[in-house]
Amino acid sequence: MPHDQRNVIASDAPLGTTVAANALLLRFPWLSDLLLILLWMASWRIASLMEYAPHASIWFPPSGVTFAAFLLLGKRALPAIVFCGLASTFWEDMLDQSQHSLSELLQSGLLFGVVHSLSYWLGAAITLLVIRRSSRHNLPTVILAFLLLGPLSALLATFTGTQALAVTSILSGSDISQIWLAWWIGDLIGIIALTPLCIGLISRFYPRCGSWILELGLRQSGSDRYGFVMKLLLSALLLTLTMTATAQFHHDEVAFSIFFMCIPLMWIVHTETPLRSALSLALLSTLTAIGIKMLALSDHALVYQFAISVLAASTYFGLTVPVLVSHNARLRQIALEDGLTKAASRSHFFEQAEQEVLRARHYRQPISLVVFDIDHFKSINDKYGHSVGDMALVAVASTVKRQLRQADILGRFGGDEFMMLLPGDTLSQARETADRMRLALMQLTVQGPIQGLAGSFGVVEVMETETIMEAFDRADRHLLEAKRAGRNQVAISA
Ligand code: GH3
Ligand code: MG
Repeated sequence: MPHDQRNVIASDAPLGTTVAANALLLRFPWLSDLLLILLWMASWRIASLMEYAPHASIWFPPSGVTFAAFLLLGKRALPAIVFCGLASTFWEDMLDQSQHSLSELLQSGLLFGVVHSLSYWLGAAITLLVIRRSSRHNLPTVILAFLLLGPLSALLATFTGTQALAVTSILSGSDISQIWLAWWIGDLIGIIALTPLCIGLISRFYPRCGSWILELGLRQSGSDRYGFVMKLLLSALLLTLTMTATAQFHHDEVAFSIFFMCIPLMWIVHTETPLRSALSLALLSTLTAIGIKMLALSDHALVYQFAISVLAASTYFGLTVPVLVSHNARLRQIALEDGLTKAASRSHFFEQAEQEVLRARHYRQPISLVVFDIDHFKSINDKYGHSVGDMALVAVASTVKRQLRQADILGRFGGDEFMMLLPGDTLSQARETADRMRLALMQLTVQGPIQGLAGSFGVVEVMETETIMEAFDRADRHLLEAKRAGRNQVAISA
């Protein structure tokens, strides 16, 4: 079993407490909604603590919760999120002790809740559509869709959210022009820094709804916790140093040093599991937001907000690298190897053969080529079916490979035709090898019905003046001669 898969399964094995909690959540589904509301409200309180101007927070974690909830639950999340919009409006009013009437607050809260929810629901629905239309393993497309559509949803939510507060007289036109950018960037950071983690978290409240976070590999657990914690602490130290220096000198030039956080974050991304990378991003973003508040760095808030967005985008693209590397390895294997017989693919065989011919010429050594084709192979397919035919082809390749030396190369030209490159063999040695193979095929048994296969062989020694393809054409002509002469024999150039 591949290592990754083992990790996923190991971390998925439900513990006793998880089973009991899941049973409770399945029995009382409203509990799931309650937990979602609590998560949203808690993250909203954290955002409020990081407000540096009315309605402008360094980042807005509830947008990550909202976006994740719609990605995971679709329309089902609407009542809970609308309720959160309403509850946060009342709570905010209580804290500000403003003079808005109950009906004003009700109108404004409901309108805000509805437009906030609909904007993110629309964005999430389009994101899911893009993800579902892309191939299942195309992680870069998933990340790109998320990074493009998440911020666009935040822009829509900013526009509709500010308009909702303006319509209900909570914000004025001039307020909107002052805060819309900070509002948007705050929502955007909440989305890109937290959505994947929130999906993982919310899927725990809703046991019935499978988490597609597994597709991002975010559930993998990693070993060497100590190493990870050290990397995280070092990153936090670098972040604290850059922020303290900014507080000391109060220059944007110094504030821009936060972009150096890219180095430790990429170090984590490329050496740790995706889950730990997402966790590091969330923790370092939180630390940045806390630092801005504690060190009074709100003058540089936009620099930090852009830095967190860029770091988050780099992190998610960084996560695709290990996936792309394993895809590339797989594609390389497909390109080099014939999928059925595991002999070299036609193009890989000729590429290698070209190199071997050059080497043989350089060292003035002989090199020969054998082409062979199974006799009356069609009748095997017709008599026993294609799967037995496939087994016969696999058996042919493995029988021949067993007889070959390390330096020899076996390739499948296509169908039931194979070729062998024999470096160091003269024509007569190659002929002997071909005859040995012919006899070995005659001894071969394929799971009962087939006792022995016959093959026709064409053999040439590659000449000084010819290319490998010209040598192949000659060998192929000899193979036809062997067929015409009655099959089950070896033909060589005169
Ligand atoms: P001959 O002695 O003239 O070579 O006769 P033959 O029946 O072997 O004819 P030929 O080599 O032209 O045909 C090869 C057949 O191999 C045609 C096709 O049905 C079958 N074949 C090609 N590729 C595969 C494969 O991957 N699996 C199976 N089972 N059959 C294949
Ligand atoms: Mg054949």
